[in-house]
Amino acid sequence: MFDLKGKVAIVTGGNGGIGLGMARGLAAAGARVVVAARNEAKSRDAVRELEKFGVGADAIAVDVASEASVTALMRETVARCGRLDILINNAGMNIRKRADEYSLEEWQRVMDTNLTSVFLCARAAYPALKAAGGGKVINIGSMLSIFGVSFAPAYGASKGGLVQLTKSLAAAWAPDNIQVNAVLPGWIDTDLTRRGRKEIPTLHDSVLRRTPAGRWGDIDDMAGVAVFLASRASDFVTGTAIPVDGGYSIQG
Ligand code: NDP
Repeated sequence: MFDLKGKVAIVTGGNGGIGLGMARGLAAAGARVVVAARNEAKSRDAVRELEKFGVGADAIAVDVASEASVTALMRETVARCGRLDILINNAGMNIRKRADEYSLEEWQRVMDTNLTSVFLCARAAYPALKAAGGGKVINIGSMLSIFGVSFAPAYGASKGGLVQLTKSLAAAWAPDNIQVNAVLPGWIDTDLTRRGRKEIPTLHDSVLRRTPAGRWGDIDDMAGVAVFLASRASDFVTGTAIPVDGGYSIQG
């Protein structure tokens, strides 16, 4: 039910953090993973790591905020791997400050990287997913898809929008046997949140206090949900947003 042998997956931002944790899960379940990010040296390291699972892995450079680059990613994936079954839209970034301190350029950078990218990648992947007889799109949201914080206006807007976009894609593509879901990670220890903890010194302890599991998440905590949503096991699950957060979102 969770077997991904013969499947091809693109993981944007798969060269580190949550993307790499999910890519490891897919590779362990048998999928060939295309690591799609900007930093080519980091992507090559990730490919070497994924190859240890005994499946092929590839690195294709992409800027998810660029329509031309995303189109090229899909073309190159199908040329190299022959098909596409799974797309994980994970690439993302944050600029932490209040809305009254934001420039329009900063706002647009966050929205383009976190939200417009999901539209661009999903739209470009659709023909190949359909041609494969169906597929899986997994969009990475956030606790800030649900909550607001003072220091993340664009990030929160992008991640809230991502959940609504997930529902529209799921409704449109269900007849093609394409399931589209979102994952809402809690606080996971990655480069992104290491920077966040430097900028917001109270963040580390406030997350610990609010998380019933009593710890920050590890990138390997994200592997299981990725395999579930990428596999046959989730064929009747679509349009949802699943928190993977150690219980963070159940506490008031
Ligand atoms: P990281 O900073 O570790 O990883 C971000 C990834 O995105 C990198 O691999 C980076 O690769 C890639 N990326 C960024 N911008 C672009 C771009 N324009 N084009 C292509 N790739 C890009 O962060 P996380 O692993 O923490 O975050 C991954 C996702 O999870 C993000 O969407 C984030 O919002 C979300 N998330 C994270 C949480 C956490 O606690 N860590 C909590 C909730 C959500 P490169 O620089 O090589 O391009």
